[in-house]
Amino acid sequence: MSADIDGVLALVRPDLQAFAGYSSARSSAVQGEVWLNANESAWANPADATGGSRRYPEPQPAALRDALASLYGVQPQQLLVGRGSDEAIDLLVRALCVPGRDGVLVTPPVFGMYAVCARLQGAPLIEVPLIDDGEGLRTDLDAVISAAKGKGAKLVFLCAPSNPAGSDIPLAEIERVALALRGQALVVVDEAYVEYAQRASATTLLAAHANLAVLRTLSKAHALAAARIGTLIAAPELIAVLRRCQAPYPVPTPCAELAVQALQPAALARTAERVATVITERERLHHGLQGLPGIGRVYASAGNYLLVRFADAQVAFDALLAAGVVVRDQRAAPQLGDALRISIGSPEENDRVLAALSARRAAA
Ligand SMILES: *Cc1c(COP(=O)(O)O)cnc(C)c1O
Repeated sequence: MSADIDGVLALVRPDLQAFAGYSSARSSAVQGEVWLNANESAWANPADATGGSRRYPEPQPAALRDALASLYGVQPQQLLVGRGSDEAIDLLVRALCVPGRDGVLVTPPVFGMYAVCARLQGAPLIEVPLIDDGEGLRTDLDAVISAAKGKGAKLVFLCAPSNPAGSDIPLAEIERVALALRGQALVVVDEAYVEYAQRASATTLLAAHANLAVLRTLSKAHALAAARIGTLIAAPELIAVLRRCQAPYPVPTPCAELAVQALQPAALARTAERVATVITERERLHHGLQGLPGIGRVYASAGNYLLVRFADAQVAFDALLAAGVVVRDQRAAPQLGDALRISIGSPEENDRVLAALSARRAAA
């Protein structure tokens, strides 16, 4: 196990392995009553009723970190909390990839931030397209393993459930990739939508695979996109290195407080109810759409969205827009020249989608 950890730390850029990072006013262990070490104001802003925003926040707010650790069933030292999973993706690419050398493997069509971060870092992008096997647009894991080995991937992003395709990856398959790439790459499982997938998280594989990391977020199922709270879960030794590369105060106090409230039992129970509603609505919308003419294919989805092919996606997009419904145009994405992605809304909102696309038939 410890050799395994060493192998993972060896994946960090050599010039950053001993990097101490910024030493912030909140990171030293001193205690006192009068805090005059960070050039903060002595008075709260009149708009700040509780005074909670006067001081710089804890770099990793302990109450939030503990609540997230318990939500995800891991130890607090396995967590890095940041400004959305987007920050964690950026941090991973910057800390692991030597520009011009270490590759980032992605599986298009997929969430765009992995490629954006690779581009910003100057890390080569290795693309392994999803394959349509008749069941759905799926991650080709054999191709992922061989491309990662052949082209020198340092980071492999597996989006599960995949956005926008909707397909999921079984844990046994994720484990197979981690094992095959041990010592070579960190396999990052982006579980932004796992709450809707009704399966165990890949965090359950972390104890056996140090070269695995998992991304979770409060932006989707927990309805806190504006709070920007994302979590990277990985080996504590790797988290410690990444923490030193992170911005000094990545989690604003008002956001941390809101998130802690959202993780209280009553709020979690409501969140679970809404996830259940989304799953029911996802199946209802899927079947409703399938019955309409002009619709090519509706992909099975483990997320809170449906990927839909149309005979004429522009006509469908316009019909939805005319009804006041904005969906995501996927036509610029590889393999998706005729597709739109529709987020699952409230039952009333989903009715509006169905009505708009049915009215189109009446008008045609
Ligand atoms: C929405 C989404 C995220 C969430 O990003 P945040 O920065 O946490 O809001 C991450 N990954 C995927 C695949 C997503 O679709």
